[in-house]
Amino acid sequence: MLQNQFITERNSKLGQKTAENLKKRFFDAYYVQTKEEALKKAVELIPKDHTIAWGGTTSANDIGLIKYITENGYTVINRDAAKTPEEKADLARKSLLSDTYIMGTNAISEDGQLVNIDATGNRIAALIYGPKSVIIIAGVKKVMPSLEDAIKRARTIAAPTNMQRIAKNSERNTPCTINGTCMNCTSKDSICSHIVITRLCKPQGRIKIILTPDDIGF
Ligand code: SF4
Repeated sequence: MLQNQFITERNSKLGQKTAENLKKRFFDAYYVQTKEEALKKAVELIPKDHTIAWGGTTSANDIGLIKYITENGYTVINRDAAKTPEEKADLARKSLLSDTYIMGTNAISEDGQLVNIDATGNRIAALIYGPKSVIIIAGVKKVMPSLEDAIKRARTIAAPTNMQRIAKNSERNTPCTINGTCMNCTSKDSICSHIVITRLCKPQGRIKIILTPDDIGF
């Protein structure tokens, strides 16, 4: 109990400091205490007339954001509802011109840089350019002391964990699927095609990051 209190205090301080550092790099950044507050802030940031799309994001699901927007009359581009791979690919392309794009991030450095890994690149493409607004939901556990540590987290924790999720629905033959550890593979099944660092947000405020110490995402 006491330890949890100290972890919460540490994460609270780290989350607030990281939000300040993200702002210095022109991101909009918000630190909130709970996943319920994260949902409230995300909803505030999405104009009702926006067309909304999202990349694979456990964090946004964990705070209930995807459920909220699909059940409350928003216009959505929902790849998850596609009936064929062709339709899914088509919706992924259309998502690049959505008004608001929702995603997570694989890691954040304390000095305010984002690190993301993608297989086909649709999520990273939307992060970089296209949607008018990008909303990132992230747990403070993704904040790493340095950029090098953030890259390491993305490669050795986020990607192998994501592979476990993907391998549940389709057979994947990568070392991390079998052993849980990254072997820097070049398998055709690898999701580690693109590794992108976002140093600065341009235009200013286009990317909005909501940080919470609650245990969301992976
Ligand atoms: S083993 Fe391959 S697919 Fe798995 S995390 Fe490493 S590079 Fe990515």
